[in-house]
Amino acid sequence: MTKMNQGILYVVATPIGNLDDMSPRARRTLAEVALIAAEDTRHTGMLLSHFGIRTPLIAMHEHNEAQKTPMLVEKLLAGFSLALVSDAGTPLISDPGFNLVRAARAAGIRVIPIPGACALIAALSVSGLPTDRFVFEGFLPSKAVARRKRLAELATDTRTLVFYESIHRLKESLSDMVQMLGGERHSLIAREITKLHEEICDGTLTQLLDQVESDSFAIQGEVVLVVAGDTQFSPAETTLDIERLLKILLTAMPVKQAVVLAVKITGLNKNQLYQKALVLSEKNPPEEV
Ligand code: SAM
Repeated sequence: MTKMNQGILYVVATPIGNLDDMSPRARRTLAEVALIAAEDTRHTGMLLSHFGIRTPLIAMHEHNEAQKTPMLVEKLLAGFSLALVSDAGTPLISDPGFNLVRAARAAGIRVIPIPGACALIAALSVSGLPTDRFVFEGFLPSKAVARRKRLAELATDTRTLVFYESIHRLKESLSDMVQMLGGERHSLIAREITKLHEEICDGTLTQLLDQVESDSFAIQGEVVLVVAGDTQFSPAETTLDIERLLKILLTAMPVKQAVVLAVKITGLNKNQLYQKALVLSEKNPPEEV
């Protein structure tokens, strides 16, 4: 239970480009707390000076978060209110802060969100893809083998998929997506959201890959990728049946042969079934028939 004389930890979202997206409540909170834990004190220092805020800053990033957390929790317990910010957008969303928020909550400290910009929500909101159910995958692994494996695991997910990606890996990731998810899926690239060179383009994965490979696409800035979920496997029972079918076939034959049969039986995409069979054969021992 929160005690009266304890401080409050405010988790404060900051803009992802356009400074007008800083809410009055975020400004007030940053001005009123005793200390701001920031991912990069120079970066946040510039934001604060833009708004005329003089609150002291302390660096808390992925490399020192575990070490700084106990001291920050002590300050909160001693009655000082703190704010947590990252370089851009909502802290903890592919950003540091998880350790501190968890430790503060465990110590019974009140943790209050000051909501604001978040690149994944901004991209999703303009995607024109279903938003009632979606999955945020953060950054895909940078190594090709691990990336393809992760995409294979997602190949039959019917929810809209949202990824953060480095602009320098965008081409490779799109190319892997075409291979693993099929090139026909409707998708969207949101680049430099809220910034001067904001660019939002959509099309099939194959079309987006062509666009990124063309000279007209600027390999610069930050991007979010939104990809349609799998519509071939849409009803949940169908997914289960396919998993069951593959598991049963895998008890009797090697992966390749099981996939050939599964394609004949279901008429579904060979690549997707192959990836699913690979995942199943790694994850689960074959089912007894
Ligand atoms: N915490 C942030 C948020 O709330 O969105 C995300 C931080 S994460 C380290 C940085 C990634 O977010 C970038 O690589 C990019 O994928 C995405 N991102 C952040 N700002 C963006 C912007 N203005 N336009 C497009 N993507 C952005």
